[in-house]
Amino acid sequence: MENVPSGIERPRIGVSACLLGREVRFDGGHTRDRFVTDVLSEHLDFVAFCPEMEAGLGSPRPSIHQERGADGLIRLLTAKRDVDVTPALDAAISKRVEHFGELAPANLAGFLLKKDSPSCGPFRVRVQKAEGGVERSGEGRLVTALRERFPHLPIEDEGRLNDAALRETFLIRVFAWHRWQSMVAAGLTRRSLREFHATHKMLLHAHGPAGTRTLGRLVARPESDAASVDFDATQYGAQFMAILNRPATRGRHVDTLQHLAGHVADHLKSSEKSELHGLIEEYRQGWITLETPLALLRHHLRHLGTVWANAQLYLDPHPRALALRSTIR
Ligand code: SF4
Repeated sequence: MENVPSGIERPRIGVSACLLGREVRFDGGHTRDRFVTDVLSEHLDFVAFCPEMEAGLGSPRPSIHQERGADGLIRLLTAKRDVDVTPALDAAISKRVEHFGELAPANLAGFLLKKDSPSCGPFRVRVQKAEGGVERSGEGRLVTALRERFPHLPIEDEGRLNDAALRETFLIRVFAWHRWQSMVAAGLTRRSLREFHATHKMLLHAHGPAGTRTLGRLVARPESDAASVDFDATQYGAQFMAILNRPATRGRHVDTLQHLAGHVADHLKSSEKSELHGLIEEYRQGWITLETPLALLRHHLRHLGTVWANAQLYLDPHPRALALRSTIR
């Protein structure tokens, strides 16, 4: 285990070791991803993991693939189909996933995986069929174990990070899940739950307004309500992450920007108001990126906005230095 800090200031995510430049692939090489090693590393801590190395397969090693047998079960076999490595892989993965569950004080905030890998790939992994042919319906053995053990954990493959909206959605979820786990670890109360919801309200609104109202009703119980706060928090955490899993559309961003602009509208000169609404309209047309109206909105809110509006994590749901919204149209 590497790079595991003792504090919870920075989120830590699991990463397929080959993406970090470790020479663990079947051919003895790596698939270093510069966005991960040079950009994300400034803001996140990494826990590297290579299931195939930890299963004792070594590097270099024969490549493996997924195959669905006549019994319907998927196994991982070497290229010549002479060795079934499923038991060794499952044992290594299960041991490490249990270890992830014991990380303290906050657990992993996400997992970034190598696409298409029979061990690591999260989506559309190739599965050879016993009767011949291939289907793109599989997921890596590690992913199945992670989803079972941590159902709300943000999981993504490195290939999809090339899409600006998917990249932002993954990182919004990583930082949000980290804040959630940190809040729970610090001691959950009805008040902390309400405050958490209050600061995430506009971020949730951008991803799913209907679900946000449901969450609002969940946290509105008074302090004296006898219902278990742990029970409500479990419901809240699951729905919170499900809402954020839907990428915010341009229309929802526009609606959220206009809503926040309403908090300063009465204090702006008419020329300032037109400038702000002009930029929101240009973003709505797809001419400029989301960051441009946001930067002006932040400026006005800082000088004229309420405490509630300035506390909205929608304004900065991840470190601004990542510049994720400078590519979102
Ligand atoms: S994709 Fe996964 S199993 Fe394959 S080399 Fe990378 S970390 Fe190891």
